[in-house]
Amino acid sequence: MEINGKTELFCLIGSPVGHSGSPAMYNYSFQKTNLNCAYLAFDVKLEETEAAVNGLKTLGCSGFNVTMPCKTRAAELADELSDAAALIGACNTMVIKDGKLYGHNTDGIGFVKNLKEHGVDVKDKVMTVMGAGGAATAIQVQSALEGAREIHIFNRRDEFYANAENTAKKIEERVPGVKVNVYPLEDEQKLYEKIGESHILVNATKVGMKPMEEESLIKDIRVFRENLVVADAVYNPRETKMLQEAQAAGCKIALGGIGMLLRQGEAAFRIFTGENMPTEEVYEKFFRE
Ligand code: NAD
Repeated sequence: MEINGKTELFCLIGSPVGHSGSPAMYNYSFQKTNLNCAYLAFDVKLEETEAAVNGLKTLGCSGFNVTMPCKTRAAELADELSDAAALIGACNTMVIKDGKLYGHNTDGIGFVKNLKEHGVDVKDKVMTVMGAGGAATAIQVQSALEGAREIHIFNRRDEFYANAENTAKKIEERVPGVKVNVYPLEDEQKLYEKIGESHILVNATKVGMKPMEEESLIKDIRVFRENLVVADAVYNPRETKMLQEAQAAGCKIALGGIGMLLRQGEAAFRIFTGENMPTEEVYEKFFRE
């Protein structure tokens, strides 16, 4: 594919972005789908978000992904937000059309899609989700939007705890029929009790991610049972200690975060272009270890 006067621009904004795999993934996908589009990464600090977005609008950029620290600010700048982005209060995918800015969040979509690819539907399920940061909030919100029956949020009593309470309040206000409870992660007895009542257990904290790869929030591995679906948002390492222990204890479905990462990109590609990303080829080329 050659860049010419009609090439559409897509990009990533945030800081740092130098390590991002997004330009390689999107440019490869544009080429495979014969789209005259190009994707670049721009290092944008939080206080530069508005100027960067205005610049992209002026230049006729068609859409962009947003990474930390700009995700919340981007949502504030949007003219319209998807239901998920509005509930999460953060955007990772934005489209510019007729001078207007449309904000989406595909992290939770990626999580739910990855479960579906493995035969698990969140509809009517009871879930225990550990975490209250960006990934956890997206997972909780999208699961609620897609019909989860009850969500137990556990987070340690740190600066994210209030976020968990806020998410629970927003979901209960705006998504009828979903019950959301928040508990401190320090209450291990409650954690194991609620996992026992859940179909799906999710770790969306940083525990298990390098340099905490030797740690798991599940100390009592007797909670792992064959029909408990276990998922981790962490993808570095691919298989966390929690997942290894869940598998060893007989859990049939134990999924790492790489599928969620791949599927959130796939969802963003569709929002950007209206086309399907060549997901299997992208996985083989960029995600397989
Ligand atoms: P964040 O900084 O927004 O949230 C961090 C969360 O981890 C909070 O809930 C915090 O309370 C918890 N936490 C941190 N240290 C802890 C500890 N020692 N004990 C208990 N809880 C602890 O981070 P985030 O962006 O939500 O990322 C969380 C994880 O999810 C990271 O590993 C990240 O790489 C991963 N992630 C994966 C995807 C994906 O597509 N698979 C997307 C986003 C994030």
